Amino acid sequence: MSVAAHFSSDSSWFDQFSKPFIISGPCSAESEEQIMTTAVGLSHIPEVQVFRAGIWKPRTRPGEFEGLGAPALQWMKKAKEATGLKLTVEVAKPDHIEQALKNEIDMLWIGARTVVNPFSVQELAEALKGCTVPVLIKNPVTPDLRLWLGAIERIHKAGIVQLAAIHRGFHYFQKSPYRNAPMWEIPIELKRLAPQLPIITDISHICGKRELLQEIAQKAFDLETNGLMVESHYNPLLAKTDAAQQIAPEELRQLLAKLIIRSPSGDPKFESQLESLRTEIDKLDGELLQLLARRMEIVSEMGQYKHQNKITILQLKRWRHIIEDRMAIGEHLGLDKDFLLQLLEIVHQTSIKKQEEIFNKRTQDKAPETQ
Ligand code: PEP
Ligand code: MN
Repeated sequence: MSVAAHFSSDSSWFDQFSKPFIISGPCSAESEEQIMTTAVGLSHIPEVQVFRAGIWKPRTRPGEFEGLGAPALQWMKKAKEATGLKLTVEVAKPDHIEQALKNEIDMLWIGARTVVNPFSVQELAEALKGCTVPVLIKNPVTPDLRLWLGAIERIHKAGIVQLAAIHRGFHYFQKSPYRNAPMWEIPIELKRLAPQLPIITDISHICGKRELLQEIAQKAFDLETNGLMVESHYNPLLAKTDAAQQIAPEELRQLLAKLIIRSPSGDPKFESQLESLRTEIDKLDGELLQLLARRMEIVSEMGQYKHQNKITILQLKRWRHIIEDRMAIGEHLGLDKDFLLQLLEIVHQTSIKKQEEIFNKRTQDKAPETQ
């Protein structure tokens, strides 16, 4: 299904920040000492410009630490006064917005569990009418770009034009080393649809464990992220929520120092080399498409033949042979196993669909007219 973005945001609020842009702070606000010590530690890292903390925590099960609510906002305000860092907190209910704005929170974010529910997002949108704060919208828990776009559009419709998206990964049923599978293709597609919208990568909720943060941070910058959200705690071992993924401010400083930030374009000599490689890629893509089209023509011919001879579309033995044979060839050529498997599956599924269309059409053509 083709998707279009029905909003146009104003990114000038974001352009005012120096780059790389980093939001950091604890998963949850736990005590005044924790907030102040962590914020002061972070304020020595020039890239960190916004301090985050969860005030109201959406927990999977009741009885887990649910945040300390409004009183914790006063510690945030104190941290801002002491460090000059801007502040952001998660809002999930209209009342959270009111409390946050009363306590000089500079930007709000909407969490992944809220974004899955258009009723909740709409309630927040109503409460935001007339406000001028930037709003950052996390991706929904499920890998659904339309739901993410829908939430951004609802907030935009309320008159909020200072927007950003936060990519925090997706719930994924297959085994993955990550807490939330990054599925980079989804934020990349969002970028294509809304190029003016900054996208910030929440590496902490993607990774789930601190050992993976460096690699994912680098990947995010290689894919041109506009910034990072990273959970930090002055002593991560003491954290009441998400302890395994939080890092101390000093560890964040080291992580940022190791990052290689490449620019989207380089000097003219490099650009011309890149251009000739792009031409080569364009040519190869053209050839690939022609070959695929030729393959589909043959698939259609086979469909007609199968229909005439009353043979089933799916030939399991043949499909198994194709997989074994093509995997062996592909691996010999150095292609990634997962990539090969996915490619073969999509080609096979599309071929089956094509033959089904032929079967349906032929059956309809033959069917006697109904009155
Ligand atoms: C968080 O940022 O602490 C949080 C709860 O994140 P998410 O909504 O991405 O799960
Ligand atoms: Mn968290």
